[in-house]
Amino acid sequence: DVTATKGNEFEDYFLKRELLMGIYEKGFERPSPIQEESIPIALTGSDILARAKNGTGKTAAFCIPALEKIDQDKNAIQVVILVPTRELALQTSQVCKELGKHLKIQVMVTTGGTSLKDDIVRLYQPVHLLVGTPGRVLDLTKKGICILKDCSMLIMDEADKLLSPEFQPSVEQLIRYLPSSRQILMFSATFPVTVKAFKDKYLPKPYVINLMDELTLKGITQFYAFVEERQKVHCLNTLFSKLQINQSIIFCNSVNRVELLAKKITELGYSCFYIHAKMLQDHRNRVFHDFRNGACRNLVCTDLFTRGIDIQAVNVVINFDFPKTAETYLH
Ligand code: ADP
Ligand code: MG
Repeated sequence: DVTATKGNEFEDYFLKRELLMGIYEKGFERPSPIQEESIPIALTGSDILARAKNGTGKTAAFCIPALEKIDQDKNAIQVVILVPTRELALQTSQVCKELGKHLKIQVMVTTGGTSLKDDIVRLYQPVHLLVGTPGRVLDLTKKGICILKDCSMLIMDEADKLLSPEFQPSVEQLIRYLPSSRQILMFSATFPVTVKAFKDKYLPKPYVINLMDELTLKGITQFYAFVEERQKVHCLNTLFSKLQINQSIIFCNSVNRVELLAKKITELGYSCFYIHAKMLQDHRNRVFHDFRNGACRNLVCTDLFTRGIDIQAVNVVINFDFPKTAETYLH
């Protein structure tokens, strides 16, 4: 999915040489289709509403123009990237840091659940690009610590999720702090009709990119097993013994079930971590980091983890509980 179709090269976009170096050092040879579509348009300053499947390279599709547009000699937040979860914020900031390795752009992550005081101290230093969850960014902005008057680009990754009732009010309030010349880029694999009102209000004439040729999950074979609740663990055990699991993510619908299932899996003799929203952030970060580094084969979690997470070693995903919506399943 990340092979180019138009035959463009990253050189075609007249990017800063240091940025181009970062792109190649990250191992990207050609832009992916979503990158081919969005990078040149984003560089013109147009608003964008872009839809493309998971794993197609949306992160770099917005990080590259963001890094290109930032004036590193100007000490001001010039780009804000909003994401719905803390883990995704960390992952996205990592991509920005890697791509911008040879630039002198300061990237900062700020999310709920971590020390506000530390963030405040951090914001006394120069920051060019802020990646965060809406609540915390708004909080810092309202306090006058995070100044957005020079922030001309707002990026919403997993945009439809950011427009769920949990986040939308914060996002809308934040937009009021941006200069009127602001550019908004919205990215997701799913854009339900509920997004329309927001779009009409804030990006009335966006450049629309839609690379969803089909709704199926290409390259992913899907199976289902019909089992009674009391047989689920047994069924999972059978799957573990039959499948070639490199790493797996197992989704449950509640915090309690995540903990119980993780305990069961450990009892069955398989290595297993778990993550859910009620854990302390430090602990969550550690588990996520260790799992990504291969410290453990299986990760049980709530749908906290459905969006945007990119862990190459995962080859099996199990929905231990039935996902609550079709979108959750797709992500
Ligand atoms: P999405 O957000 O669309 O789900 P990601 O941005 O997480 O996708 O990218 C998925 C994977 O593809 C990542 O591992 C990323 O490093 C890789 N990738 C992105 N763009 C390219 C490219 N142009 N060439 C090669 N790999 C790429
Ligand atoms: Mg993504």
